[in-house]
Amino acid sequence: MKRNVDFKDISDGKLYSSNDMVRADCHNCEGCSACCRGMGKSIMLDPFDMQRLCKGLSVNFDGLMERYIELHAADGMIVPNVKMDGQEEACVFLDAGGRCSIHSFRPGICRLFPLGRYYEGDGFRYFLQIHECRKKDRGKIKVKKCRFVKHLLQ
Ligand code: SF4
Ligand code: SF4
Repeated sequence: MKRNVDFKDISDGKLYSSNDMVRADCHNCEGCSACCRGMGKSIMLDPFDMQRLCKGLSVNFDGLMERYIELHAADGMIVPNVKMDGQEEACVFLDAGGRCSIHSFRPGICRLFPLGRYYEGDGFRYFLQIHECRKKDRGKIKVKKCRFVKHLLQ
């Protein structure tokens, strides 16, 4: 999806390839679940996410719609997204301990975070979103060792 933002305002201004080092290691998000709350409709799901959610939760599309996801319109398309719930607007998959209850099959956006993809020509590179992740002491990690990227390369 296209975002109408200035790249310099949301990133450190660099584009990363899979062999580059990037400050995106959140130390397994210990003690933090900030990006699992108040995310509105932004945790969007692609067909691969949908297939993994159905398999992981042992439900079909209707079952997902009953409890976990909703549909919204974006760029002229109907797109599914993970629901936020309650006063805190917490993701429906966030457990009482503030951890993701579907960690092994969580959506691609969650796996990639705090990296994003920057599409150019026929391919893409990665960028670091500088405002969204609350962890102040993120370590450096090779892009291809990030959980989502690693998953794609396996
Ligand atoms: S699916 Fe998991 S990682 Fe993604 S927002 Fe929900 S609780 Fe957080
Ligand atoms: S804000 Fe950063 S450290 Fe906190 S849960 Fe999200 S990715 Fe992990």
